[in-house]
Amino acid sequence: MTSAVNFHLAENSASIIRRGTLHFTRKNKTVQTPACLTYTLRGSVPHLVADNLKPLPIELVQVTLEQFLEQKDASFKLPQGLHKYLHLENAILFCDVRDPLKLSSVSFNTDKYLSVQSQGGVRQMTPALWAEAVNAYRPDVAASMADTITDVVWKSKRIIKSVNRSLRWLDENLTKSKELDIPIFAHVMGHTNIEERIRSAKETSERDVQGFVVNLLGLEHDSLSHFIRASTDNLPQNKPRLAYGLSTPEKILEGISNGIDLFDGSYAYKATQSGRAIIFKFGRDLHRSGTQQKTIDLWDPQFAQDFEPLDITCGCHACSRPHSKAYIHHLLDAHEMLGPLLLMSHNVYQLDQFMAAIRKSIESDCFEQDKERFTKHFAETENDVDEVDVESLSIRAKKKRTTLCKQ
Ligand SMILES: [Zn+2]
Repeated sequence: MTSAVNFHLAENSASIIRRGTLHFTRKNKTVQTPACLTYTLRGSVPHLVADNLKPLPIELVQVTLEQFLEQKDASFKLPQGLHKYLHLENAILFCDVRDPLKLSSVSFNTDKYLSVQSQGGVRQMTPALWAEAVNAYRPDVAASMADTITDVVWKSKRIIKSVNRSLRWLDENLTKSKELDIPIFAHVMGHTNIEERIRSAKETSERDVQGFVVNLLGLEHDSLSHFIRASTDNLPQNKPRLAYGLSTPEKILEGISNGIDLFDGSYAYKATQSGRAIIFKFGRDLHRSGTQQKTIDLWDPQFAQDFEPLDITCGCHACSRPHSKAYIHHLLDAHEMLGPLLLMSHNVYQLDQFMAAIRKSIESDCFEQDKERFTKHFAETENDVDEVDVESLSIRAKKKRTTLCKQ
């Protein structure tokens, strides 16, 4: 039987830095890796509608199940599946239970259920409810249920429990997914415990899954390399690895150096929410870029008289018209919905360009040199906080509080 998901590594891929192709046989679609998934909220790319999506390179879309759930509604009424409902018939939909960007501690998990943040409040997600939702939504790929540690303080026993519970849920999810004929990516857990990361990777690899989610959520360390490697060194080469917890450009590069193929694309959304436009480049494109900033803050009054587009080299809708920085600054200041729309179009496009430049760099066998140049070129912000997470000094507090794009 043909597999629904086929992953191939390029022959010249170095052993750990991977250049691959991910083929979805049922849709006859191929995604080049490394790549980012497109981030969504309730299945919609934030700020954009179908017409805005057409010119964008959107192939692999992340959909979060908890955002569709009502607190009490027991049934799933989506007779035509999620693709048609969301007008994303041509996209590959990857469905996971929780949002990797907004993962919060909503309540504790037990052996029987995972606590999720539904529309009306906390809901208990059991393997049976997971199967019901996956059957109704029919995504192209579903992630297994994962007992992610969201506590600020935890004991070592909690990590062992998280690994065991996630494996047990995976087995239940796998049985159902085979009945439903939907491929599964399994969460690889272990949090900060290296031995448990290895055990989780090894035991998960023994299962018949089509890919892995290397779960790094909640790990607040400068370097995550040894945590990533504890997982990836113990996973099979021939299956794709998506990472959670590596969304900034630097973390994406660190992930690639350690054998990751796919990333959540939430950085484009986070940049947009803070009124920023991505301007960083990678590889050959970096040579032509003189800027030391990764993003520019369109709330900043310095752009009120800047009539250049966000990036003259960019082919996105916002830059090709072109809409000037002054106009976008005005739109943000006036709380016009068009402001975040233009920024999101640009940021999704630019994040894709970044991933394309990374793929070229791997093909040319100069990824590590390009990565080093990138890291040196873009100065870190204070306290190593990424630019998109830094409170902008140029935004008056009142303006920021009343911004249309609430987190
Ligand atoms: Zn652009």
